Amino acid sequence: MPPAVDTTQLSEALTQLERAQAWPPGLLDELRDLISSATDEALFQINPVSYATARGRAPELGIALFLHAARAGLMQIDWSLRCCGCGELVSNRGGLAQLDSDFYCDSCARSSAANLDENVEVAFTVAPSVRPLRFHAPDSLSLEDYFYRFRFSRDIVIRGLDKPLVAFLREQALILAWLEPDAELVFELDIPEQGWVVGHPRTMITTIGAPTRERRELTLDYHDRAFHPRPELAPGPVRLTLRNKTAERVRVLKYFTPIVTYFDYLPHLSGRRLLNNPEFRRCLGTEVVRPGTGIPVKDCTLLFTDLRGSTAMYDLIGDNAAFELVTESFEVMAQIVTRCGGVVVKTMGDAIMASFNHPADGVRAGLQIILNEHGELQPKVGLHRGPCIVVNQNDMVDYFGQTVNVAARVQGEAAGNELCLTEAVWDDVREDQAVAASLAEFGELQRELRALKGVSEPVPLYRVRVR
Ligand SMILES: [Zn+2]
Repeated sequence: MPPAVDTTQLSEALTQLERAQAWPPGLLDELRDLISSATDEALFQINPVSYATARGRAPELGIALFLHAARAGLMQIDWSLRCCGCGELVSNRGGLAQLDSDFYCDSCARSSAANLDENVEVAFTVAPSVRPLRFHAPDSLSLEDYFYRFRFSRDIVIRGLDKPLVAFLREQALILAWLEPDAELVFELDIPEQGWVVGHPRTMITTIGAPTRERRELTLDYHDRAFHPRPELAPGPVRLTLRNKTAERVRVLKYFTPIVTYFDYLPHLSGRRLLNNPEFRRCLGTEVVRPGTGIPVKDCTLLFTDLRGSTAMYDLIGDNAAFELVTESFEVMAQIVTRCGGVVVKTMGDAIMASFNHPADGVRAGLQIILNEHGELQPKVGLHRGPCIVVNQNDMVDYFGQTVNVAARVQGEAAGNELCLTEAVWDDVREDQAVAASLAEFGELQRELRALKGVSEPVPLYRVRVR
């Protein structure tokens, strides 16, 4: 049966996408072909980075394409929370506002704190109005679809085995079943070697010791979102009875692993990378975390600027003319930030706050800002990096925490036409030859320790002065 594509919707959305910006030849035709003829699986949670690289295109182009496609109504954006213990996508449908700062994983039976760097995978699914997919209704998915295509991340490779996690689960599966309320199921298993039987919901049978040919009886009860107890037994034949002690119908996957699995991740779009992508605010600026929710980001580079001489200038030329000059200066700085791959978070009076995915991008932007001619105005720039919390400030993405405070204070240390960067930033970029060379033009960087207001330990920093 051919896919049920709404060709009118598809054409309208593609026309809107075409108008959004100039795209390389063939890019939109590829997308049209994909939506018209690919399998449901290929259109569900598309990783925009691997989509682009598989077609010989730059990852940032793939990200821009799917962000604009989401804006045009062709795609839905999915912010998925991923458990790094088992690879389960704990929640995988919804916007940034649906994200929580912690999550409970049913395979691991534990709560964890989420961060946008490691736990959030952003992907794109074709909109149901353009083409309905069976993955749009996860409750009605088959067990195979549910566990091998929906519930676990497809961006994980098992370290040492060079095998995707979902392929590993499929190969190692012992039980794939629905367990009805108050029902029981019996399985004859043969565990060949030492290891663990694990799965979703939480199961833990440790097989240890010398193998036996004797068949053992084992009963596991499902309640409180896990199978109990967690026994040890020798490898060999087992008659396993699973009993559901709850009133819910539950999907069960149990698989055997002879190793403790460690994960490598295919290049993908993490929540942090997306928040620092300039196209994100342009296309989906309404995507914010819920008011009152703070989601941690482990490593974010923050840039603050201020303008020296602006107060005197207001005095000298009057508010209107000064405002015009400051606005012009802002526009130039915002363009530099965007060109360097960062995002202007907000402006405050004569100051700008920007965020970057990579410290080197922040340094490039800071340097270009102070090198730019701003007339009487002399920009003062500070850079710092570290953990912070992403919050909703007046329905915009904003950052909160001591890293933000330190970045602002470091900016306060800068004189006009000067860039101050903390050691945390410098340590990351000193190996970047291009950045190190452009900084070296202004003399060797001297480390100095500065006491910053509200910060208990002195902060090591470096200054770059251009004129
Ligand atoms: Zn887990």
